[in-house]
Amino acid sequence: MAAVCGCAQDTYLERARRLASEYIGIDSHIDTAQRVLIAGEDLTQRTGRGHVDLPRLREGGVRAPFFALWVPTYYKGAEAVRRTLDLREAMQRFVEAHPDQIEFAASAADIERVARAGRIAAFLTIEGGHQIDDDLAVLRQYRRMGIMAMTLTHFRNTDWADSSTDKPEHDGLTDFGKEVVREMNRIGMIVDVSHVSDKTFQDALAVSSKPVIVSHSSCRALSNVPRNMTDDMLRALAKNGGVVGINFGEGFLNQQDADALMKAVNSISFSKMPDLTGKALDDYAAEEFRRDTTAVQVHATIDDAVAHIDHAVKVAGIDHVGIGSDFDGISGPPKGLEDISREVQLAAALLKKGYSDGDVKKIMGGNTLRVIREVVGK
Ligand SMILES: [Zn+2]
Repeated sequence: MAAVCGCAQDTYLERARRLASEYIGIDSHIDTAQRVLIAGEDLTQRTGRGHVDLPRLREGGVRAPFFALWVPTYYKGAEAVRRTLDLREAMQRFVEAHPDQIEFAASAADIERVARAGRIAAFLTIEGGHQIDDDLAVLRQYRRMGIMAMTLTHFRNTDWADSSTDKPEHDGLTDFGKEVVREMNRIGMIVDVSHVSDKTFQDALAVSSKPVIVSHSSCRALSNVPRNMTDDMLRALAKNGGVVGINFGEGFLNQQDADALMKAVNSISFSKMPDLTGKALDDYAAEEFRRDTTAVQVHATIDDAVAHIDHAVKVAGIDHVGIGSDFDGISGPPKGLEDISREVQLAAALLKKGYSDGDVKKIMGGNTLRVIREVVGK
């Protein structure tokens, strides 16, 4: 009877919803800040666009999302710093306009306090080491502005770190790159090694005295793309005490989608990147943002996401796996995980797979909160 009426599934979902009121759901990478800055969208409403807004965060049990202040790599030098400040300012205006619904959180205790008060705890990060313009003073200022993590590279190498989707140039991290990691450890900023080359990953883990995060990557053993983690990397991450946030993007979860993704990635010509500044550059970015919203059809389903979580847990251990959807930065979310409101369905799917309540709490947020406590403080 249960199979016919779907009652068994409902029981898992009910259990997941109850659990979600006990854990603080953390998603370690969403790109929603772009929609706030470029499109001026009001996230307090169910927008019917993109993958994230406050109603859908609450529905999905995601009470502490990492808002990535991502700047495309064609913003160079001081332009990348300017763009970071524009994104930071857009988020400031949004949060200040809705103090009853959302608040910045800059520590583990902050996240717990804000979530307990029924508000969304916004945790700010930057995505790309180019955003510091090779200057540790800029890095320190970002930290003072409440930016609590940095991905060392985006799609392209920086002057001090190799990316997984560019030609090797520095053999991982340069001496300055290692200094960046040490400085982030010192000032309590989380080192994020998504996007970086395998050698940069190794170098960062060798230098870092604190746990790192892989904010939005999945498992290469199941879907072979350079931004996913090999089993050796997952084991090294466990030894470091870090956490990988499983990415739901097209190509990250399913090999058929991965083949299509690699074809698309290899066709991007980086020599065609614009050589613009100021408003002309912002206009170019806005045009690209509008173009990139076209949905991509994928083979991946919520079962693939469960398989990646399960693989990462088997290789790295239950204390080192989390969620980093990349929502609002991807075009083809898996069937069953169409937007952030569905993350509670993922918790239900993990319960159905046989994960205990305690394990699900760790995966859906507990592990990442532990890293925040260890690196950022309290
Ligand atoms: Zn990314």
